[in-house]
Amino acid sequence: MINLARISDEFARQATIDSPSFKEAEIAGYLRQRFAQLNAELTEDNAAEKIGSQSNNLIFRIPGQKEGAPLLLSAHMDTVGPAKGVEPVLREGVFRSSGNTILGADDKAGIAEIIEALEVLREQKITHVPLEIVITVCEEVGLLGAKNLDFSLLSAKRGVALDTTGISDVIHMAPAANRFTVQITGQEAHAGVVPENGISSIMIAARAISRMKLGRIDHETTANIGIITGGEATNIIPRTTQVKGEIRSHNPLKLKEITQHIIGLFEEEVAKESLHLEDQKINASMTLELLNEYPSMKVDQQADILQLICKSAEIIDFPINIKAAGGGSDANILNEQGIECVILGTGMNKVHSVEEEVRVDDMAKVAHLLVEIIRQA
Ligand SMILES: [Zn+2]
Repeated sequence: MINLARISDEFARQATIDSPSFKEAEIAGYLRQRFAQLNAELTEDNAAEKIGSQSNNLIFRIPGQKEGAPLLLSAHMDTVGPAKGVEPVLREGVFRSSGNTILGADDKAGIAEIIEALEVLREQKITHVPLEIVITVCEEVGLLGAKNLDFSLLSAKRGVALDTTGISDVIHMAPAANRFTVQITGQEAHAGVVPENGISSIMIAARAISRMKLGRIDHETTANIGIITGGEATNIIPRTTQVKGEIRSHNPLKLKEITQHIIGLFEEEVAKESLHLEDQKINASMTLELLNEYPSMKVDQQADILQLICKSAEIIDFPINIKAAGGGSDANILNEQGIECVILGTGMNKVHSVEEEVRVDDMAKVAHLLVEIIRQA
């Protein structure tokens, strides 16, 4: 049923088109023309202008011959770098790059699988519900495409995103994440001559961090301080120190609580530091940039979309493993917008590295599962 040569060629064609985030014009052009061959009707939103990308998100519609709620299929067209001059090399059934770039199986394997599934539906004249296919831009840079997607253009309330490693994992939960930058300002002074005239921003940061709960906080929450920069010379009490970190949790209340815990400690330690210089009182201070990177997602085990996937996998004897993820993807945003959406493995592995790879066989298996999901939807 699945045409191995066709899916392999499809993937190779897409992989040779460089498409780092923001520079998606060429891949979008290719996808417009490729989906037109499948009689998909194209709608574009206006994300390009909003986020400064070369392309909008692309929404393709394929009418159904069967009554039923529409099904959404999603993937992203951008890749991480290095992505200049990607040359996919196929050896013994496995695609890799020539070694100097990523391959871009994240997420072109997913797009190739969607296209192969649509080819099969047409060839085998399989009747199905209406399909909405969303191919986003700028997923790899903070889900910018999905965050700026015009959801009024979509009617589906259930769907699958093809965007995780391996082939068996079905992701139904993913954490929310907050990212922060704290800039602490103290008072500079000569460290050897008048240290009492200084307030060390590094000491304030150290005191705050030493009191923090970090690492794995509980089964669904993690926190990390990832970057510290500050100070100018060994003989200067450091005036400014910048601390960057993140908090993730599957539970929105815990996300808020741990974020407050961390920021609160910085505030407490900053408030303790002041000094009198001549007639002037100098207080340490801080600024905070807090960014909610993405909301959490949780699709219930009993949800229609998970039942549909389990049933389809069983019919074709496809092993699946329903689990939680540690990171965020477009599916977090789709769920936030009321589309019950889980993430399927695409066969891609070692992603975000020059060793990235995908087996043609695995892409074929996922395309087969996709055909069955669409048939059963
Ligand atoms: Zn991806």
